[in-house]
Amino acid sequence: MTPAADEAARTWWDAARAGTLLLQRCTRCETLQQPPGPLCRSCGSPDDLDWTDGDGHGHVVAATRVHTTTYPHLKDALPYWVAVIALRDGARIVSNLVAVPDDTTLADGQCASLTFVQGPNGALPVFRLDPADCGARGGAGA
Ligand SMILES: [Zn+2]
Repeated sequence: MTPAADEAARTWWDAARAGTLLLQRCTRCETLQQPPGPLCRSCGSPDDLDWTDGDGHGHVVAATRVHTTTYPHLKDALPYWVAVIALRDGARIVSNLVAVPDDTTLADGQCASLTFVQGPNGALPVFRLDPADCGARGGAGA
């Protein structure tokens, strides 16, 4: 059975709210993909998708500090950081970076690790800078 995109998203969010970062894995070509979807974005298989726990370590590929929003529920959070994190597992994820000091200049390659914050519907996976740990498999560019 081919999972619908909504079903994959629901699985991912249910795990996230319980404190686990899931990565969707294609058992045919071994590609990890994030966000999850109904097909492998590498080989196109709809029938070989599985899940694996991400270890939550990676490095910043790109980041921006958001200073304005049209969403009323985000106004109290301004300014906040959004980043693309290259996970050492092999997938990339777009997430918030939390607890970034005001004088920080983010650069490509800075280590980041997974943490969770409490959202309105449960835990939300976010990342924090972690200069001591890009994970055991190496640092930036790994
Ligand atoms: Zn595949």
